[in-house]
Amino acid sequence: MQKKLMHVGPSFTSYRIQMAGVSENTGFASPDFLDAMKYSLEGLLYVAGADDSYMPFILPGSGTVAMETVTSLIPRGSKTLLLTNGVFGDRWIPILTAHGLQMDVLSADPGHAVSMADIEEKLEGGDYQNLIMTHVETSTGVRMDIEGVSKIARKHVERIIVDGVASLGAEREDIARLGITAIISASQKALGAPPGAALIVASRSALEDINEFSYFFNLKNWITPMERYLEGKNGYLSTEPVGVILSLNRVFSDIRTTGLEARIDDHRRLSLALNEGIEAAGLKVLAERDLWSNTVTAVLSDHADEIVRRSMDLGIEFATGVHPKLLGKYFRIGHMGYVNDFDALSALSVIERAAAQSGEKVRIGEGVRRAQQVLYDLS
Ligand code: PMP
Repeated sequence: MQKKLMHVGPSFTSYRIQMAGVSENTGFASPDFLDAMKYSLEGLLYVAGADDSYMPFILPGSGTVAMETVTSLIPRGSKTLLLTNGVFGDRWIPILTAHGLQMDVLSADPGHAVSMADIEEKLEGGDYQNLIMTHVETSTGVRMDIEGVSKIARKHVERIIVDGVASLGAEREDIARLGITAIISASQKALGAPPGAALIVASRSALEDINEFSYFFNLKNWITPMERYLEGKNGYLSTEPVGVILSLNRVFSDIRTTGLEARIDDHRRLSLALNEGIEAAGLKVLAERDLWSNTVTAVLSDHADEIVRRSMDLGIEFATGVHPKLLGKYFRIGHMGYVNDFDALSALSVIERAAAQSGEKVRIGEGVRRAQQVLYDLS
């Protein structure tokens, strides 16, 4: 049986996107690659909602590479307020610590988000120059109110950095309007390309003050290469993942054709259908309803790991839970990339069966029925 991947990354891509990356001997200075790189850099600005005052970067790597590289925007001696709603928010702690950067941390329990009142109080009571938040926390499926946090943060800090690894391309980022300094992502998540590229969009004015703690993870060293790629010229600093960028190029072309808003709306519909379907089947969603993200649904169950195992046998691969406070107590459905209505319905049908086989009390068929209704009503 052909397996369907509804993991949280690498996410669901399409054969077309994968095949776009398979090319005959494309080098890092080949015209095909240079066209794809320029188009992808411009596409990156588009999905981030950036304007001319921002600079796009595509580096060999992953989300963590983007996290570590964007950290070079944080000056030594400055202080960061880190908001974390789970495992990936927490990942900034060792990264900032490794670079000797000072921070205070506000964390939320799994399924919740740090509250606006706590953020405001902390910012008013402390002397912070930077704020870091994760738009969609992949370990719990919680979406942070990026607009609300940015509005408060703009009054107090000079730099707002957003982890958009699980959101860019499926959630509204609007970084220019919100005054966000930089956003990061990776090719294999919400955008739905294969893994291999780290993505960053940063304000050009913030690039004037780089903390040069590293060679590779130093945005300053990547400015000239990216300027050259934007002009359609070879900008080699380190070999780019050529095939991934050819795929990414096709993703951005799809997004331009569909329109970003329409693509985000599709993910929102799918998310609502899956979340309401899970509840109608008698299972519980980890995230509070007003925090449901467009890309990740975390489902509570004492049989979570067994459900993931049985689902794999039924043809769909989901992700187990990774939050240390809830290990084995939940699993995650990824609805990133190229997932469509019928994948969502299949996912619910597989989960209902796998959950029932695992001894979970579920209402067989009710989740699928509810999702079908949501998808029909919103289409
Ligand atoms: N941030 C978030 C929100 C993520 O979901 C992930 C990956 N799951 C990362 C950062 C790290 O990305 P990578 O695994 O590509 O290094």
